[in-house]
Amino acid sequence: MGRYTGPVCKLCRREALKLFLKGARCLGPKCPMEDRAYPPGQHGQGRKKVSDYGLQLREKQKTRRFYGVYEKQFRRYYTEATRSRGVTGEAMLQGLELRLDNVVFRSGLVSSRAEARQLITHRHFLVDGHIVNVPSFQVKPGMNIEVKAKSKTREVFAHSGTVRRAASWLSVDTEGKRIQVLSVPSRGEMDVPEMHEQLVVEYYSR
Ligand code: SF4
Repeated sequence: MGRYTGPVCKLCRREALKLFLKGARCLGPKCPMEDRAYPPGQHGQGRKKVSDYGLQLREKQKTRRFYGVYEKQFRRYYTEATRSRGVTGEAMLQGLELRLDNVVFRSGLVSSRAEARQLITHRHFLVDGHIVNVPSFQVKPGMNIEVKAKSKTREVFAHSGTVRRAASWLSVDTEGKRIQVLSVPSRGEMDVPEMHEQLVVEYYSR
């Protein structure tokens, strides 16, 4: 499947959830979810009967789009989670939360996951002192992530810490542009209250 290059706000409206794909705009009154929180298209406001499969599919798409991963990668998080000892749904979300792009986004240093992904691929981040340019890199508790010294003064980091607060499982030095991962986030610590990961598990285990 190719990269989605269409209007991203439509994705939020389709999933009936703010996916926070546009940075600061997502938190302001210009967010289309404020006044058009129904699916896009001519029949978006019509009544719809959704099957169990439809519910599972929507939940899977919603979670995948929230984290900005392709189908193949997303399925891999599920497969990995089935091999873990914990609850499959929670383990899958933990895998997604510990992606480097998500950690950078959750730290509040940047305003969206897309921005985090771009900065990572452009080699602006160090993990334990080494440049990592892979957004899906799995971060572990105890690891230190830092913006490269030369990049700290870039305009893109000027609003660090002002758009969103850092997640509780991260320790963030906003001035120094440093992040330390304190622990693997528990389900309660993930800021995904409207996710029903069990439906995603049901979708893949059909
Ligand atoms: Fe989604 Fe952000 Fe667009 Fe609102 S502004 S619909 S949260 S991408």
